[in-house]
Amino acid sequence: MIPPKTVRDILDAVRIEEVIEDYVALRKRGVNLIGLCPFHHEKTPSFNVNPTRNIFKCFGCGKGGDAVGFLMEHEGFTYPDALRWLAKKYNIEIQEIERTPEQLAEQQLADSLYIVNDFALQHFQAQLFDTDEGKSVALSYFKQRGLREETIRNFGLGYAPDQRDLLLQRAKASGHSLDLLQKVGLSSQDGSRDFFRGRVMFAIHNMSGKVAAFAGRTMSADKHIPKYINSPETEIYIKNKTLYGAFQAKKAIRQQDECILVEGYMDVISLYQAGIENVVASSGTSLTEGQLQLIKRNTSNLKILYDGDPAGIKAALRGLDLALEQDLNVKIVLLPPGEDPDSFVQQMGSEAFGEFITKEAKDFILFKTRLLVEETKGDPVKRAGLIKDILGSIALIPDPIKRGTYLRECAMLLEASEQVLHTETNKLITSALRKKADKEARQPGAASDAPTAAPRPDVPAKPDVPRERPLQQGDEFQERDIIRLLVQFGDRELPGENISVAEFILADIEESLSSFENPLYGQIAQQCHARLTGGEGLGPDYFVRHEQKEVRDLAVDILAESTRTVYSAGWEEKGFPLQNQLPPEVNFGADSRKALSIFKIKKLTKLLQQNKQRLKIASEQQDVENEIRFQKINIQIEKVRNKIAKENGIVVPPK
Ligand code: ZN
Repeated sequence: MIPPKTVRDILDAVRIEEVIEDYVALRKRGVNLIGLCPFHHEKTPSFNVNPTRNIFKCFGCGKGGDAVGFLMEHEGFTYPDALRWLAKKYNIEIQEIERTPEQLAEQQLADSLYIVNDFALQHFQAQLFDTDEGKSVALSYFKQRGLREETIRNFGLGYAPDQRDLLLQRAKASGHSLDLLQKVGLSSQDGSRDFFRGRVMFAIHNMSGKVAAFAGRTMSADKHIPKYINSPETEIYIKNKTLYGAFQAKKAIRQQDECILVEGYMDVISLYQAGIENVVASSGTSLTEGQLQLIKRNTSNLKILYDGDPAGIKAALRGLDLALEQDLNVKIVLLPPGEDPDSFVQQMGSEAFGEFITKEAKDFILFKTRLLVEETKGDPVKRAGLIKDILGSIALIPDPIKRGTYLRECAMLLEASEQVLHTETNKLITSALRKKADKEARQPGAASDAPTAAPRPDVPAKPDVPRERPLQQGDEFQERDIIRLLVQFGDRELPGENISVAEFILADIEESLSSFENPLYGQIAQQCHARLTGGEGLGPDYFVRHEQKEVRDLAVDILAESTRTVYSAGWEEKGFPLQNQLPPEVNFGADSRKALSIFKIKKLTKLLQQNKQRLKIASEQQDVENEIRFQKINIQIEKVRNKIAKENGIVVPPK
């Protein structure tokens, strides 16, 4: 483990431009550096690096973050690995924290389990290549399936003869602990027999290429014997975080920016041998979140090959909503009836196969929509359910632009109004966010640990409130402006006052903290408030390094927008400010005061509306006492609101 202080040292030493220049050619434009984005194909550069803020942002594909984020995205590093890489680049020594005895014991156990698995692999391979039975039963089987010896060795294929305890005996003779063999699932539960017998063997590697588990396919024609059996879950084998073939495919997936998913072990091996190397299998059941994250670390593009019947495909599609939440682009390829990837690639050859899956790939959501439209023809009730189902999927997509595109396409397929679909989808998103916020509110302190799978809220496209804008938008607009000021200028001193912008804003809206309309903004405001109360500062770094992805992304967006709107407009080159409008960098003091006023007026207006509602009910019920009370409150709120508005030259909406 890297001590927190070293983490800070590393992050403080990092110059983002120096890190990115290792991968992308950058040139100067204004205060920023620009280059061709390494995450999407482009001919004109939209990839911005901002050395002042130490962040990058691509205005083409939307990727953005700090140097650590860049390395995780580009190199597929884990967070600690990215830090280690940076430490090396900047010559910072990492004295890893001593592990606790429990952690040490855990690591030792894992190490010994890998050693036992490695012994078993060698045993299975020796049985395959060096024994008569192995050659005649298993090796001939693999060769018959078209595998070359090089492939067989590369994937760790082997053979377990049909003997009671051959592996156990050999392991014992070589000094291995039978207890460990049992722990790693190589012997039966009572430890008396080999677990895999009479089977061809497939090694299942972890991401660093160590053997984590095995699968065995029976060589018997007996229908009562399961065709495939797998090692049980162990300390080193967590099924829902493992993808078969991922270790071998990792590099190709990154290079081709696409992951192909198939069903079986032989499909993976066969395609790999044919030169289609970016291929993995989920080993049976539907994709889990852990497996999707594994893919997402290497690419955003997932192509799934199906060889099943329509019913099976429909069931499989249901599991794919998880992939949308991970912001993966999912495409579906249906193979011709009776073919699986293995048989199909052998029959067609790799080139034609590659062409086929490129040509036949269908977007998942549109595929699903077409499939269901076909099915619900002439049944309006079913049709309504179908629309709900599709919108449920679309609502999970975090990227608003992508969502918009899907809604347009689906509106056409469904012969429905795009506007209605939009409204319905937004309802689903809002209610999902509310649910998430409620859940977090019910578990205090757990907010930052919560998974970040829920969709990101829509953010208004333009960050700056034009000064004469009337007060018509929803509250979210003002809320975002408050957050923008906190992120951009939170730690600056408010001109003319002896306090920071963050202190100024948060002290004044303390009582509104729980009434934010947008849950994410509300959560950020509350966390900032807690930090200030705890005596901690609030610089842009706090947000960019925030442990919650939604917060990091929002901060990067805000910071990247801020330099873009000011400088790309040519403000700097022309040497004069935009009309009468000072850039946010100069004007943040006045901006803060104004944003705060607008925010408060919004909240007061809402309060006023609520109160009027109560007034109406009271007067309907001829409850004179309350009628008078609410009248008085009305006047009071209006007075305060109008005062703030007048002081700030803001137009209050008509009653
Ligand atoms: Zn990009």
